[in-house]
Amino acid sequence: MKKIGVLTSGGDAPGMNAAIRAVTRKALYHNIEVYGIYYGYQGLMDGSIKKLELGSVGDIIQRGGTKLYSSRSEEFKTDEGQQKGIEQLKKLGIEGLVVIGGDGSFRGAKKLTEKGFPCIGVPGTIDNDIPGTDFTIGFDTALNTVIEAVDKIRDTATSHERTYVVEVMGRDAGDLALWAGVSAGAESVLIPEKTEDFDDIVERIKRGHERGKRHSIILVAEGVGSAVEYSEKIKKAMNMETRVTVLGHTQRGGSPTANDRVLASRLGAKAVDLLIEGKGGRMVGIQNNQVVDHDILEVLDAKRVPELSMYQLSKELSI
Ligand code: ADP
Repeated sequence: MKKIGVLTSGGDAPGMNAAIRAVTRKALYHNIEVYGIYYGYQGLMDGSIKKLELGSVGDIIQRGGTKLYSSRSEEFKTDEGQQKGIEQLKKLGIEGLVVIGGDGSFRGAKKLTEKGFPCIGVPGTIDNDIPGTDFTIGFDTALNTVIEAVDKIRDTATSHERTYVVEVMGRDAGDLALWAGVSAGAESVLIPEKTEDFDDIVERIKRGHERGKRHSIILVAEGVGSAVEYSEKIKKAMNMETRVTVLGHTQRGGSPTANDRVLASRLGAKAVDLLIEGKGGRMVGIQNNQVVDHDILEVLDAKRVPELSMYQLSKELSI
C-alpha cells in the first residue's frame, strides 16, 4: 500500500476533521501518500482529488464540519457511478480508501470493495445509529450541544413556570434524545424505538407540579413526530402554557468534544492499519473501549439493538 484516499460522505458530524487528520498523519507516519477526495462520492466520480501533506491537516482537529466537504449522490448508487469512482482512483495510483460517514456511505464503500477496490468505513454521524460500535464520531459533541441548550431552556422554563417540548435529531434512533434526557434531567423522553403512553407523560408533569416543580422538559426525537404537535396536546390535556424549541442543525456543528477527538483519532488510525494489512470492506468501531473492526455488510444487515437500559434509567430518575 503506497497511496490511499480519504473522503467524508453523507451527513457531517463534529470530529470528522479529527478523523481526516488521523488517517492522514497515520498514513504519512508509515510513508504512505494520502489523497483527500473532496465532496464525498460526487467528488470521487468528478476527480476532485488533492494530495494531502502533514500541514494540510494542521489546525483542523478542533473544528466542526469537514474540511473535505460532503455530499449525497444518487449517481454513485449505480454500477456506472462506482466504476467511474474506481477509475479516478486508479488514475492516481490510489490503492485503498477510507470512507468517513454513516450507514449509506458504508454501503457505497462495500460496493467499491466488491468491485475490487478495498475500502474501510469510519463511523461519523451524530445519530449513534451504526451497529458494531458503541459510539459514533460526533455523537458526544451533539449530546453536549443538546444538554447545553436544555440547561438554558430550563432557566427560562423555571422563571415562567412552563413546560418545554424540545425536539432533537434522530429519525430512526433515539440515542441522542435518550442520553440527553438522562444527562439533562428531562421529565419524559420520546424515542422512535418505544411507544410512549401519552397519559404517562401528562401524569409525570402533574406529579412534578404537585411537589412544587416550576418546569418540565419533554425531549422528542424527530422520528417520533413533531414537537409542536406534542406541545399542543399537552397544552390541551393540562390547560397550561407550553413552548417548543427545535434544536435543528445546531446539533451538527461546533468544536468536537475531547471524547469525539480521541475516538476519531483512534478509529482513523485503525482504518489505515487495516488497509496496510490488505483488508477491505470492513468498518472500524469502539466496543467496551477497545477498537474493533467488522465486515460492513454483516454489521449493516444486523438489527441495531437500542440501549433500552438507558430508557429505563431515564424513567426511574424522573419519577
Ligand atoms: P450517511 O452516510 O450519512 O448515512 P447517506 O445515506 O445519504 O448518508 O449516504 C451517503 C451517500 O452514500 C449517498 O448519497 C450515496 O452516494 C452513497 N450510498 C448510499 N447508499 C448506497 C448504496 N446502497 N450503494 C452505493 N452507494 C450508496
